[in-house]
Amino acid sequence: MASDHTIFALSSGRPPAAIAVIRICGPQAGRALQRLIGRIPPPRHATLTRVRDPANGEPIDEALALWFPAPYSETGEDMAELQLHGGHAVVAAVLAALGTMEGCRPAEPGEFSRRAFENGRLDLTAVEGLADLIAAETQAQRRQAFRQLKGLIGDRAEAWRRQLIEALALVEARIDFSDEADMPEDLVEPALRTARQLRGEIAAALADSGRGERLRDGLVVAIAGPPNAGKSTLLNRLARREAAIVSPHPGTTRDVIEVHLDLDGYPVTLLDTAGIRDSDDAVEQEGVRRARERAGAADLILWVTDGSVAEAAGAEMVNAALKSNSWRIKNKIDLMGHRPCRSNESSSGNDPQKMFRISAATGSGVDALIAALADFARDYFSATESALVTRARHRSALEETVAALDRALAEGEGGGREELIAEELRAAATALGRLTGRVDVENLLDVIFRDFCIGK
Ligand code: GDP
Repeated sequence: MASDHTIFALSSGRPPAAIAVIRICGPQAGRALQRLIGRIPPPRHATLTRVRDPANGEPIDEALALWFPAPYSETGEDMAELQLHGGHAVVAAVLAALGTMEGCRPAEPGEFSRRAFENGRLDLTAVEGLADLIAAETQAQRRQAFRQLKGLIGDRAEAWRRQLIEALALVEARIDFSDEADMPEDLVEPALRTARQLRGEIAAALADSGRGERLRDGLVVAIAGPPNAGKSTLLNRLARREAAIVSPHPGTTRDVIEVHLDLDGYPVTLLDTAGIRDSDDAVEQEGVRRARERAGAADLILWVTDGSVAEAAGAEMVNAALKSNSWRIKNKIDLMGHRPCRSNESSSGNDPQKMFRISAATGSGVDALIAALADFARDYFSATESALVTRARHRSALEETVAALDRALAEGEGGGREELIAEELRAAATALGRLTGRVDVENLLDVIFRDFCIGK
């Protein structure tokens, strides 16, 4: 599928910089290169060359030129790359010259990757992996994105889909050639066996409880507690920057404030919820409702209280409701002097809930809290090395596949109308195809003829 237009773009970061990379892709890429540098360099070799304005021959810059003729390029089309000096005027002059060339236009966002996908160089999951790799903020996110770019889920899904097509071919053969005397009878049972095995493998991939998706988005830790307990101060301390408004007046942090942290390579999103307390003020009530909702959905809640005063009964109740995934943070220990800890301040009964005594203001005890958060993130993500599912899109495609396989298996166990089994297997294969972006219909007869030598 060759493109009509030749596209070009500055592929490196904003000038000024030491180097700027301009890429040109499409049928006119070679001609454009010829006009800029006067020749086509040998394929895939860096060539030092003079770049000239084709309008008047004036030299623009000295650059390294690279030529990747189709199909051995990232997009599968003819591609040229110029590594220029990264000044504003240099980049502007080259882009302007390219803009005057017939059949050439500036690339739209993502258009190079789109061409790579359309030309079969990358499947959809790899394109997503590439986007994630560029967006990755932490090392764990980078590793996950790189695995996906290199086909961790795409290759698995494609292998599953191939097996499904083979199974489908068996059932189709049974349907289409049931009159032929030399057709083996038991074609459906092996197909169902494959379906059963694939169902197990896909369900196992789905059973990662969203860790791959979480690694993309970050583990959510909500800082909650009564007003004035020091939540915003703690958030600032953890973020080491002024992200939340610290105010001596209760109830000022109305909105939920987010801060993204990198804890040992793992992404953690911290939420500072509005002071959770009951209020007559309508706006504040809404803030409280949103705070409860987000805190409730968080992976972990840091329940902050002012350790220097007696805790209100209401706050204890909220705390009890949140207890399953919350840590208790007793703040403002700097105000407590050297008062010894009373024994009932540690976790009650045999509840293993973690408790930290800190001063958000002075920073004392905060390092231990950060270390514990990093451990928590590491434990949470320890199983993600093998996580296939990194997006809701993957999850829904795989769930659809499993559902279709379940229907095929149920049909098969009930004695099985072959047409219905085939239909469900086809639906399962289509759902998998949607995952990688390969939805084109396979020539089933090719598979049948290859495996069974039906016909002569
Ligand atoms: P929030 O309503 O829970 O977000 O509380 P803030 O972070 O706005 O803090 C309320 C007040 O407590 C502010 O005046 C802070 O300076 C103060 N504060 C917060 N943490 C500490 C602490 O560890 N020690 C002391 N002495 N004051 C603190």
